[in-house]
Amino acid sequence: MTLTPTRITPGLADVPTEVDVVVVGLGITGAGVALDAVTRGLSVLAVDAHDLAFGTSRWSSKLVHGGLRYLATGQVGVAHESAVERGVLMDVTAPHLTRALPMLVPFNSSVSAVQAAVTRGGMLAGDLLRRGAGTSTDTLPKPRHLSATEALALAPALRKPGLRGAMLGWDGQLEDDARLVTTVARTAAAHGAHVRTRARVLAATGTSVELRDELTGAVTTVTARTVVNATGVWAGDLVENVELRPSRGTHLVLREAAVPGLQVGVFAPVPGETNRFVLVLPQPDGTIYVGLTDVPADGPVPEVPQPTEQEIGFLLDVVAAAFARPLHRSDVVGAFAGLRPLLDVPANDGAKDGHSEETADISRKHAVLTSPTGVVTVVGGKLTTYRRMAEDAVDAATAGASIDAGPCRTAALPLLGAAPREVLAALEQPERLVRRFGTDAELVLASAVETTGLTEEELLAPVADGVPVTLAELVFGVTHEGAHDVADLLDRRTRVGLVAADRDLAVPAAERALELAATASSRS
Ligand SMILES: Cc1cc2nc3c(=O)[nH]c(=O)nc-3n(C[C@H](O)[C@H](O)[C@H](O)COP(=O)(O)OP(=O)(O)OC[C@H]3O[C@@H](n4cnc5c(N)ncnc54)[C@H](O)[C@@H]3O)c2cc1C
Repeated sequence: MTLTPTRITPGLADVPTEVDVVVVGLGITGAGVALDAVTRGLSVLAVDAHDLAFGTSRWSSKLVHGGLRYLATGQVGVAHESAVERGVLMDVTAPHLTRALPMLVPFNSSVSAVQAAVTRGGMLAGDLLRRGAGTSTDTLPKPRHLSATEALALAPALRKPGLRGAMLGWDGQLEDDARLVTTVARTAAAHGAHVRTRARVLAATGTSVELRDELTGAVTTVTARTVVNATGVWAGDLVENVELRPSRGTHLVLREAAVPGLQVGVFAPVPGETNRFVLVLPQPDGTIYVGLTDVPADGPVPEVPQPTEQEIGFLLDVVAAAFARPLHRSDVVGAFAGLRPLLDVPANDGAKDGHSEETADISRKHAVLTSPTGVVTVVGGKLTTYRRMAEDAVDAATAGASIDAGPCRTAALPLLGAAPREVLAALEQPERLVRRFGTDAELVLASAVETTGLTEEELLAPVADGVPVTLAELVFGVTHEGAHDVADLLDRRTRVGLVAADRDLAVPAAERALELAATASSRS
């Protein structure tokens, strides 16, 4: 198939009035549905009220899970599906946006011998999942026991007294969750999907949507053979038969110096609790995330959820107990919270209000539900399994509307910029661009040069001291990824916005990128 140069654009100018599939929501789920449907040969319009990855998809732990925690709760099918999809992402569709992350569980004084044995058993079970999913040890090495000395070599800041060893396992880590969404959406657009941001669906039936252009206020109707609702925690606003019970997960952002020398993810045990951990996750950009909480978030769904001071304090305390260097509130340079779009499942244990008490107990499996008018809602799941969620949703949508579509192709379809790891390693472009764009790093730079007339040196320089974002990516964000304003560039195309002080430093570069792109487009 030849790729058309369709791009992602804000607003609804020149939108088609009739398509095969309308996809509502451009988080990872909607972007995945758009890609699945367009590569089955269907015409697609995919819209988001705000921007790509505006919702939950940018607030995750950025892990490509093997599903071990689901195994622990007896959800073997969910665990296997997760492990399979992790392998697909890491080996086929997105090697450029994923990496193997070593994860260490320290055996310290708050971990009993029994808990250590359970952890060892869990990691070995996780390895069985890997093998069962057909993922090689080149992609994710086997877990192994470490001595205290070996553990300290990988995480020198661990608290030494009482440390008697550790287990080391491996899981997948994303370069960034919003980058995955953007890449999936851009791949869908490259295959011909119309991808529009700033386009809100006001009402939907199984065969039409009423849309408002959020730039102009104009309202228009688009008819479709099927409509897929992929609006995450907002899914219940568009259809009647879906009720969600979101749970809030909060992360802290620390600088590298707060946990010096950290080369691995660390499961910090929650003191006084069995088998409960807080994750300390070094990020490719040099920051460290600490997460996460899992608390019911009943009530109205906010556009941008906020962490509470209580959650921040809890996370800080757990990490402080595992590491030698004292941590203070001032070490927290950012914090973010996301809402898991969990389906509300009536409890069968006689819980007071008829609902399951703990959100941690609610199944993480995704669901595909069809409304009385035929809108197909796909909800739940996780970033890791987005491809399978999209496949199930498009299967249901095409079957429900008797659409004769081709088979799902996405398991063997590399996203834009993907290539085998050895090819990526041999690329000559700057490491940051390769990590974020893979083989498209060259395109990012070449198109930024063409758009701006600036030198490569200027385009590749960090936009501010200690802020590794480059003008080249910001310009590309506008010209190829539908970024419309400073927030799109700093909070979603790049994630500099996770640290407010860095964001302030990057604002002038984002404004400059928008101006340079606007000048170039007025010339052409
Ligand atoms: C704290 C936390 C950590 C997590 N960590 C991981 C992890 O490490 N790995 C993993 O695999 N998964 C993880 N998950 C799960 C994963 O992030 C979510 O399952 C996933 O991002 C949900 O994506 P979505 O596309 O369904 O929803 P969203 O990303 O919320 O997308 C919905 C979109 O719909 C749009 N929208 C809403 N209403 C309308 C409308 N009327 N018209 C048009 N557009 C509309 C919104 O603007 C939004 O962009 C985590 C979740 C949380 C909360």
